[in-house]
Amino acid sequence: MPKQTIRDLELNGKKVLIRVDFNVPLKEGIITDENRIVEALPTIKYVLEKGGRAIVFSHLGRVKDESDKANNSLSVVAKRLEEHLNQKVVFIPETRGEKLEKAIHDLKNGEILMFENTRFEDLNGKKESKNDPELGKYWASLGDVFVNDAFGTAHRDAASNVGIASNIKHTVAGFLLEKEIKFIGGTLESPEHPFVAILGGAKVSDKIEVIKNLLNVADHVLIGGGMIFTFYKAMGLEIGKSLLEADKVDLAKELLELGKGKIILGDDVITGKAFEPETEKNCRSIEGIPSDELGLDIGPRTIQLFESYIQSARTVVWNGPLGVFEFPRFAEGTRSIAQSIADLKDRATTIIGGGDSAAAVIQFGLKDGFSHISTGGGASLEYLEGKVLPGIACVDDK
Ligand code: ADP
Ligand code: MG
Repeated sequence: MPKQTIRDLELNGKKVLIRVDFNVPLKEGIITDENRIVEALPTIKYVLEKGGRAIVFSHLGRVKDESDKANNSLSVVAKRLEEHLNQKVVFIPETRGEKLEKAIHDLKNGEILMFENTRFEDLNGKKESKNDPELGKYWASLGDVFVNDAFGTAHRDAASNVGIASNIKHTVAGFLLEKEIKFIGGTLESPEHPFVAILGGAKVSDKIEVIKNLLNVADHVLIGGGMIFTFYKAMGLEIGKSLLEADKVDLAKELLELGKGKIILGDDVITGKAFEPETEKNCRSIEGIPSDELGLDIGPRTIQLFESYIQSARTVVWNGPLGVFEFPRFAEGTRSIAQSIADLKDRATTIIGGGDSAAAVIQFGLKDGFSHISTGGGASLEYLEGKVLPGIACVDDK
């Protein structure tokens, strides 16, 4: 079902609640990656240009006790946002109360304020993350309309997304949420074929539902990363000291049966002697993995095989690095596959989901090589699993 977006709303003079995902990484009070701020700018700017009064909020980090407050204040983000917008951002260090209400009352058209980390409310009894009904109702009362643009938390049922949406007349998607819905949701719903899914990452257990769901919609499912070894074990191969989830071998057998003809596993791996960056590197056929070695990347024949599928694809969805890309010696598989997806350019819709996969392609300098790099880690995984995300479901249908 298509969702309403901010283009569908009259914003002039309206108090516009905007839930963004400003959960940025901080080191000693300094923002180390501001991608999430940059990604939220189009929505915020649009609201301001249309004469809306923007009330922006987000969660930030983990807030377990009072001592976490100092390190997780959104005030640094407000400063950074101010620089990006080149406009004053009024920061209210509260999540409710008179001071906040007065500041909202005083906002003029085209002005913006931000209030404090929504998770500070959790210290009053898990209110924000547990979608406390009173809290959602209170925040909803502060605005006229609600724009949800926080894809990163769309898989959670929180007071600051679902709670507000259930207590306000209009809930629409911001541009970022719209983009995630269009690319991930739209692709899963009606992909162009051939549709190639590439799955990697550490564990089968993290990706079972993703594999199952993509087997329903994709033509080919290529598997690499740490999880292939549980599949190789299921095929009766010896995998040395490679990552194994012994309790998932039967499940891997079932998946191989279910995905017969669709699941593509390579036939060579790059091994090391230990899980270390400088360990001795060898290329092994999967029939000949020595007992004292472990697989840390896919091999060159496998890369070639995977590339042959990618080259004719019209849709590619990729989740999970194909090797331990954090070790330069074992990054080749992930890098080559990233490059061959990027080489498709406009011939295919190409989507990257998953936090580490996104980090990998950014590290390789291929950030602009894909149709879409999802901004959500957990949220993009659950979306790829075919789940209905509460933060999307709560947006008004067209
Ligand atoms: P994403 O965040 O993209 O969903 P995951 O979190 O599932 O990806 O997995 C990423 C991790 O998988 C990376 O840190 C990478 O080092 C690891 N990995 C990939 N291949 C292997 C392997 N052969 N053995 C162990 N770990 C691996
Ligand atoms: Mg990860």
